[in-house]
Amino acid sequence: MDIPGRLVLLGHPLGHSLSPKFQNAALAAARIPLRYEALDVEPSAFEDVVQSLRSQRAAGNVTIPFKERMHDACDYLTPLARRVGAVNVFWIDDGDRLFGDNSDVGGFDATVTTLLGERPRDSAIGVLGAGGAASAVLAAVETWPGCSAHVYNRTPERARLLCERFSAFAQPVDDIGAIAGAQLVINATPIGLRDDSFPLDPALIAPGAAVIDLVYRPGESAWTRAARARGHRACDGLAMLIDQGALAFEQWFGFGPDRSVMWDSLRTSAF
Ligand code: NAP
Repeated sequence: MDIPGRLVLLGHPLGHSLSPKFQNAALAAARIPLRYEALDVEPSAFEDVVQSLRSQRAAGNVTIPFKERMHDACDYLTPLARRVGAVNVFWIDDGDRLFGDNSDVGGFDATVTTLLGERPRDSAIGVLGAGGAASAVLAAVETWPGCSAHVYNRTPERARLLCERFSAFAQPVDDIGAIAGAQLVINATPIGLRDDSFPLDPALIAPGAAVIDLVYRPGESAWTRAARARGHRACDGLAMLIDQGALAFEQWFGFGPDRSVMWDSLRTSAF
């Protein structure tokens, strides 16, 4: 596989991104002569930037708020990217054709499997939020045998529209209490990203349920810590961030990165 001309993360704003840190550690460990650059792109300039990245044979990641726009800009989408409706990994192939994939789904799936020791089956899943991350969560749940999902969102209409796309197993709920009874509870909102607020009172979560927060914070999110203090298996979004990044690396280079190098780079950072 050809090495990309440039490796970038597209987002706005990008202040909190950890991806350059762990991707550059993995590139150095694999002796790949590239730097992973964070490109903070003004939303009005997005299409122009993508056009110039085509001519540079660039590859990379896409984060908030561009995952849906990148989906629309791609010439080819993997079935998973099409299912989610969002692209977080891209590369150029066949001349200047833009390819898009979604590694949030596989990253989330790997994180859940690590936390539980196996992939869920015949379980009730509770999802908070109905944006792009919730869509990736549902695309993973779709592959888990016998699982059903309830989705609660601040704007109920958005939960209804999301569940329509996954109607075989997902239902919107108006009462957050319906989420609390699930065996796996997932926060797919940014609540807790900037402060210690909780997306759902941990006291309401059913005994024995596992908890995954897609938000990550230095020293873990407060919700993850509070859930674990009540006896729940819990992890925040850092594991998923690394897992989706490792899958993206594999897509760009055809082999997987050293994940322990990725983790070590974050342990030694000021994050
Ligand atoms: P998004 O498409 O903008 O959707 C955000 C969702 O959160 C919407 O359902 C929104 O509800 C809800 N929300 C936002 N602020 C809220 C508030 N104050 N109270 C209640 N609900 C609120 O964003 P996204 O891409 O889905 O990302 C969601 C979160 O997941 C972000 O924090 C992101 O960093 C995280 N994430 C982490 C990873 C990882 O690798 N760890 C990967 C992807 C995403 P409305 O519909 O009512 O606006």
